[in-house]
Amino acid sequence: MDAVDTLAQWVKESRRIVFFGGAGTSTESGIPDFRSAAGLYVTEQDSPYAPEQILSRSFFMARPEVFFDFYRGKMLHPEARPGSAHRLLARLEADGKLTSVITQNIDGLHQLAGSRRVLELHGSVHRNRCMKCGRFFTLEEVLADTSAVPRCPDCGGIVKPEVVLYEEPLDRGVLEAAISDISEADLLLIGGTSLTVQPAAGLVRYFQGRHVAVLNMEATGFDPRADLLIQEKIGSVMEALEARLYPAE
Ligand code: NAD
Repeated sequence: MDAVDTLAQWVKESRRIVFFGGAGTSTESGIPDFRSAAGLYVTEQDSPYAPEQILSRSFFMARPEVFFDFYRGKMLHPEARPGSAHRLLARLEADGKLTSVITQNIDGLHQLAGSRRVLELHGSVHRNRCMKCGRFFTLEEVLADTSAVPRCPDCGGIVKPEVVLYEEPLDRGVLEAAISDISEADLLLIGGTSLTVQPAAGLVRYFQGRHVAVLNMEATGFDPRADLLIQEKIGSVMEALEARLYPAE
């Protein structure tokens, strides 16, 4: 029995699957991750600022025009479409097998694929708010504002994306929901994440169910606790898994 057969067997036996994912879930949709060879931490080495620095609260407040230049150019991908992993996870939820997708991603692709319970640990590019009056803006509205720093037409305040920057806390309600879902899960699928960004990555330690599978191209710190490791592209793995789970199609 190969690894995908084993995974398919576990999925069939499970009722409360939780998927915990990161940027690697969306690389096949054309959105670069941070730490792969083609990731932003490697390709941006000639830039005067490191991505972690630009994506910090203090940098945002001090140099919003540099932040928005990087953010618009590197972090916004409005043309990206969900891939096989996003689609299968939505299908498993619709079939009553998957409780939630817990993601560090900010791209909204899980919702676009049809997932309903998506716990976005780091927020979303689709939610933006005026820092002064609190008015809400969609991604489309933010994209339509081509000035160096997007500003609220009502009060002139800076429109900040509701993404969690370095130095900012995670939303307490989202964290508590993630801990609860992971604690009650029977199968934990970890995919497309280096598991290095804290406190998000530490949440997987709350799992006390039967099986953990890590679907990631590179090794992660949680591999020693995994019952199954598949170091291949998550989209291909999910396609193979879907073919095993729904063979008639
Ligand atoms: P990361 O860049 O640290 O790690 C990504 C991991 O995914 C790597 O270990 C890589 O080997 C693996 N990977 C890449 N492509 C893969 C594929 N096709 N199949 C399987 N594995 C693949 O990303 P992270 O752990 O999510 O942490 C980075 C932070 O950056 C997160 O906080 C996230 O919010 C943010 N981020 C988000 C996006 C997005 O929303 N799509 C993109 C870049 C960064």
